Amino acid sequence: MIETKKVKKPVRTISGVTPLTVVLKPKKCNHGTCIYCPGGDNVPQSYTDKSPAIMRALALEFDPYRQVMNRLEVLEKMGHPTDKIELIIIGGTFLQYDINYQYKFVKDCYDALNGKKAKDLNQAKKWNEISKHRCVAMCIENRPDSCSESEINRMLEFGTTRIEIGVQILDDEIYQKVNRGHTVKDVIESTERLKNAGFKLGYHVMPGIPYSNPEKDIEMFKKIFDDNKFRPDQIKIYPCQIVEGSLLSRIYKEINFKSYTQEQARKIVTEMMKIIPEYCRVMRIMREIPKEKITNAIEKLDLRKDIEREFRDSGVKIKEIRMREIGFNKKEGVSDIKLKILEYEASNGKEFFLQFVDLDNVLYGLLRLRIFKDKETGQDKAIIRELHVYGQAFEIGKKGEEKNFTQHSGLGKILLEKAEEITKEQGIKNLLIISGVGVRQYYERLGYELDGPYMNKHF
Ligand code: SF4
Repeated sequence: MIETKKVKKPVRTISGVTPLTVVLKPKKCNHGTCIYCPGGDNVPQSYTDKSPAIMRALALEFDPYRQVMNRLEVLEKMGHPTDKIELIIIGGTFLQYDINYQYKFVKDCYDALNGKKAKDLNQAKKWNEISKHRCVAMCIENRPDSCSESEINRMLEFGTTRIEIGVQILDDEIYQKVNRGHTVKDVIESTERLKNAGFKLGYHVMPGIPYSNPEKDIEMFKKIFDDNKFRPDQIKIYPCQIVEGSLLSRIYKEINFKSYTQEQARKIVTEMMKIIPEYCRVMRIMREIPKEKITNAIEKLDLRKDIEREFRDSGVKIKEIRMREIGFNKKEGVSDIKLKILEYEASNGKEFFLQFVDLDNVLYGLLRLRIFKDKETGQDKAIIRELHVYGQAFEIGKKGEEKNFTQHSGLGKILLEKAEEITKEQGIKNLLIISGVGVRQYYERLGYELDGPYMNKHF
């Protein structure tokens, strides 16, 4: 039997993996500064010096090795498992930093997880495959115009599995006025390239961005899911705030800008939540900007809780992933679950979204399989972009015997077998998986072998 442990802040690990955030040293974005961005000098551009993650990083002089070591220690003290880590790199546009800095930063993170210094990144990754603290996923925050083929290859080399890009709104005129420095075309093209490379893809959207309005925000949000050129796997909804230090905080009166009130933001986000399809997960609502740094009306940082409570109380069924995850639903045991497959077109490819759900559509596990035509070879290609079995994270190797512990109940294997079956039906002779370095061994046991940055199985 599994020993049940008391865990402080269990939400942090409820989706099965322990997130560990590492912050980059401050650097300005190449295009300049978006008008709503705090753009500080001594902290990463889009953050303030009062955000907890940034304060921690500042105290450690943004040293990635020390940041990882420090977080591991704290997470362990709080009772969180630290054997399956998702490394989240935040702070700026990582791909625009000096290349040597990028490689060293990632290697230092692996070194800290491994507890020893490797001679290079490859060795560090290799060691991490069997390390006590395995990197099972890695996320980089990025811009749509920093996702060229070579940048994508570099991200794959780092062991990245998830990318978040700032999209904010789909409107070139607004992009220009707020100095985003990229276009909707960049969003469309990077979305396709990132999905074809196998990444799980998240969008950041910003209702209430200057020059928009509630109708336009909702229209844009619908388009994100109606138009198959977009369709992200995850989303963060950050209503625009007037943050101290930003250009917006100096010119908002001049341009006649009013940010949404708390009530307006609540209404819009509620509407947006109803639009999100089953294949998308809402990662966060509201940025974690300390109140003293905000000069406008939305001060409630936990807006999400209120909105979700309303949905649950009123019985409105929301399709997005997080609200359906078993970890966020009180359920006794694992029973009557079935495999459900959703097929949809996205970015010139076909997505198969496989889910294990129960009769209430509560989610126990999912897999994203993408089939698309490889531009170089003209051949159809199949890639698994995500395999995730939900439940409280617990240590690698222990059997899932307690209620709600679905991590090792074999659901992952069944999802994988189904994906292989679909791939074969499409006449494709091999299946690739994007895999965090720390999960490679799991796939090896199931007949996959390392092939460049992917795991691969030939049929
Ligand atoms: S892209 Fe992000 S970090 Fe860069 S200026 Fe814009 S908001 Fe700030």
